[in-house]
Amino acid sequence: MNILVCNVGSTSLKFKLYDMPSQEALATARVERVGDRKDAIFHYENTGTGYRVKLEQQDVPSYSAGIRLFVQYLTDLSAPVLDSIEQIDAIGFKTVLAKDYYGVHLLDEAVLAGMDAYMNIAPVHNSCYLEAIRQCRLLLPDTPLIGVFETEFHRSIPPERKLYSLPYEWFEQYGVQRFGYHGASHRYIAESIAQRCGGSAFKLISCHLGGSSSLCAIENGLSIDTSFGFSLQTGVMHANRTGDMDAYIIPFLMDQGLSLQEILQGMDQNGGMLGISGVSNDLRFITEQAGTNERAALAISMFCNDVIRYIGSYYVELSGLDHLVFTGGIGENSDLVRETVCKKLTVLGVDLDDEANRRPPADGIISKPDSAVKVHVIPADEESVVARKTYQYLAESAAQK
Ligand code: ADP
Repeated sequence: MNILVCNVGSTSLKFKLYDMPSQEALATARVERVGDRKDAIFHYENTGTGYRVKLEQQDVPSYSAGIRLFVQYLTDLSAPVLDSIEQIDAIGFKTVLAKDYYGVHLLDEAVLAGMDAYMNIAPVHNSCYLEAIRQCRLLLPDTPLIGVFETEFHRSIPPERKLYSLPYEWFEQYGVQRFGYHGASHRYIAESIAQRCGGSAFKLISCHLGGSSSLCAIENGLSIDTSFGFSLQTGVMHANRTGDMDAYIIPFLMDQGLSLQEILQGMDQNGGMLGISGVSNDLRFITEQAGTNERAALAISMFCNDVIRYIGSYYVELSGLDHLVFTGGIGENSDLVRETVCKKLTVLGVDLDDEANRRPPADGIISKPDSAVKVHVIPADEESVVARKTYQYLAESAAQK
């Protein structure tokens, strides 16, 4: 069975085609800078043959154009993976959240309405996914489109950590609560550590650090706390978005004459690493400038401190720690962030191997052999989780018929 996994970002589309249940990846593609700027970059690889393409300065004005470009290569005569797109048996989407829907669902009109109803909680993410899902439906009207919602993994968080100390009726009436996101990534980390250690009886903190960042405390394979809350506008600082902040800053700034729209723009586009550094939203550029630019150095310190603060509180909630994992674009690539964070954690029994941190070995372990907490670098693989969940959903639905 061919399952295509579609990961939709605000300006990017990532695809991975799997043969299931073998989980063999057949093709991958990435379209960056989707929009009207005619400077999109397209990467494609036929994983079986190793045939690769990178195209720059492409005109990819919409998600549908991105999907068509990918399909053209997938069925292209020079290195076809499929004869036609009808050979895609299902598309799995790493969807974010929908009102009243958790877990894995066929993306019918009711589920799409649930995503629409929560548009103002995750405006960028839900609008991108809705557009991409509708385009795929036009392209493949008879192919099941399945949503694997990010919030599912955090359903195990107990009420004392899930609720805000607001009037309880607001939880009952409006569903205001900490939903948590990055579920596919944290689940993948929990499963990877379980595979490496045999069994799931461990205490783990998963740090997904990238354009969006979140931490998750995991006990016996289950999420017991996470840094994302009601929206993706919470937790540690992000590339462009603020993390946790005092809600009363908003009415205060409105009193100073800023409109709500200006404040929200500051919070979700001009905040985070970009807002503090004034240099970039990309940690690579910020790191380059940190030696000579105080605000760039401050952005890195603030980010690392946010991560340290959450690790400290999760250590106590978990009553100890066996494994600390770094994943995501920053977690996998920034030895500076890993070192700054881990050096503060020696008091918790973290003993980093500096050389392994600079060049993580094949097994990804960057702590010294006698470190009380094992520190790992594990590449994020959210797509494989979505492929497995989609396959499982289809197999169970078929068995019920
Ligand atoms: P997203 O959350 O958008 O999926 P990723 O997990 O792909 O993001 O992470 C992207 C971020 O990773 C980039 O914005 C960049 O800041 C960071 N990054 C990637 N490579 C490096 C590197 N070598 N050093 C530091 N940061 C890096």
